[in-house]
Amino acid sequence: MSDCIFCKIMKDEIPVEKVYQDKNVIGFKDIHPQAETHLLFVHKDHSADIVEMMENDPDAIKDVMNAISAYAKKTGLCDRGFRIVTNVGESAGQSVFHAHFHVLSHARLGQFGK
Ligand code: 5GP
Ligand code: ZN
Repeated sequence: MSDCIFCKIMKDEIPVEKVYQDKNVIGFKDIHPQAETHLLFVHKDHSADIVEMMENDPDAIKDVMNAISAYAKKTGLCDRGFRIVTNVGESAGQSVFHAHFHVLSHARLGQFGK
């Protein structure tokens, strides 16, 4: 999608601090971090959100989760603990409509969802 900011990031048209890349997925630092570690993992194929992603290509979610797992194992994030969040819809806080997965890690994450 030509006017999608994450598609542009995928094509290196907008610079980001990349932390991970494979043939389907990139991981990069969020520009407005909400935790000590705040990364975004994005699939190269455009879907508006996770619901559309499952309709378009159910295997894409596996690509993203494999990428996050590989990154977490390699960097020690597994030992520190982390949370994966994906927002669907404006009322849930979604502001970029290309499916993406926040990876958040902090000395002590809030108890949201417990
Ligand atoms: P959402 O609110 O849609 O769940 O998450 C979108 C995230 O993308 C936000 O946390 C926002 O800070 C991040 N973001 C938006 N534009 C850019 C950008 O140009 N570069 C980077 N690195 N992050 C961005
Ligand atoms: Zn896109």
